[in-house]
Amino acid sequence: MTPPLLIIGAGLAGWTTAREFRKLDATTPLVLITADSGDFYAKPSLSNAFAQQRTPAQLVTTPATQMAQTLQVTLMAHTQVTGIDPVQRLVHTRQGDLGYRDLVLATGAQAIRLPLAGNAVERVLSVNSLQDFSVFHAYLTSASSSYLNSKKHAVIMGAGLIGCEFANDLASAGFAVTVVDPSASPIAALLPLDAGAQLQSALYKKGVDWRLGTTVQSVSHHSTTDPLDVMLANGEHLHADVVLSAIGLRADLSLAQAAGLACDRGIRVNAQLQTSAEHVYALGDAAQYTLGRTLPYVMPIMHAAKALAATLNGQATPVQFPLMPVAIKTPALPWTVAAPAPGTAGQWHLQEPGIWQFVDAMQVVRGFALAGQQTSRRAEWARQVVPSAG
Ligand code: FAD
Repeated sequence: MTPPLLIIGAGLAGWTTAREFRKLDATTPLVLITADSGDFYAKPSLSNAFAQQRTPAQLVTTPATQMAQTLQVTLMAHTQVTGIDPVQRLVHTRQGDLGYRDLVLATGAQAIRLPLAGNAVERVLSVNSLQDFSVFHAYLTSASSSYLNSKKHAVIMGAGLIGCEFANDLASAGFAVTVVDPSASPIAALLPLDAGAQLQSALYKKGVDWRLGTTVQSVSHHSTTDPLDVMLANGEHLHADVVLSAIGLRADLSLAQAAGLACDRGIRVNAQLQTSAEHVYALGDAAQYTLGRTLPYVMPIMHAAKALAATLNGQATPVQFPLMPVAIKTPALPWTVAAPAPGTAGQWHLQEPGIWQFVDAMQVVRGFALAGQQTSRRAEWARQVVPSAG
């Protein structure tokens, strides 16, 4: 029997690769192994589900069995891959070994955990999967508030894109929210300082409280039914029903490193998305593309999956990423941002209300940030940007 094309991971990267491959090849056996249920959902919807009153079950857009049937995939759900042997072209699972013709690593990223003090550190949640979201949702919707007749309180660690999206969503859904971050303004990695200040102010008007320039030091409680005591580096204590850590993700390198694949901040791939091992490819949050870039967003996955499907179908196709502005889902003040590549020397300038452009040392426009109604001018601004190399 022909060994299958084997995909590890049922996130956007895994399923999109399967879908793109099936458009080109209807017959090669396709096996998808995943540690989770394999149900298809849009991960970006996790950070705006509360305001829309969507439960975890309602976020599933296509059940795993239907995905598998439509794409003619043999799905091995709830199956952890424990090792890869690129020489023998084998994948190890607790259910046994599987051979492959080609292997695609779509294993995603893991939430970064900070070493915090306190006896309730395990109560610090992060949301990077539907399963995580179910736990988070249960904490916020089941038990009653820790304060008589008052709102439930969520403390969010991290004022990045995901922290701010959750802050907006939870505040809109009626929760009290405090965001804690060492930076001077929100989404400092993508937005200029004064733009971040505008977002901060818009979210403040929605009821989001800010503790910037400080960090969470410890999370404790007297008993499991008591509210959490969150101590900050500035000595302040906050009481919380839930603490959400949104400080960032790190590519999951465990399988790749153990198999001897070249890794850095992600699994290193060339322009054809091949790893350092023959017949092994990677994409999505797990991958580090050429010139050292990780691109943990939806649009890069779409482009990568299409190129990879063609390569796997016998037509070596390098992935080409166009300018891919990111939409920040903060309805209090929404954004569309095309940030310059990390390390690009230059400066942000406010062009007109709600529009910033990033100009490099040669006066070339390398990025933009559009706020509120100006987000409708995305196409016009995208035409003006010369993407940084890589
Ligand atoms: P994942 O979705 O993490 O999938 C990894 C898969 O690998 C899982 O199925 C897992 O079970 C499986 N797996 C891992 N290890 C193993 C193993 N050893 N054995 C078996 N299976 C394994 N991007 C945007 O562009 N716009 C947005 O608005 C946006 N909003 C976001 C909001 C949130 C809250 C989050 C967390 C992310 C957001 N993103 C957004 C980022 C985007 O969702 C991700 O880049 C994308 O979903 C990553 O998909 P992936 O398939 O690479 O990884």
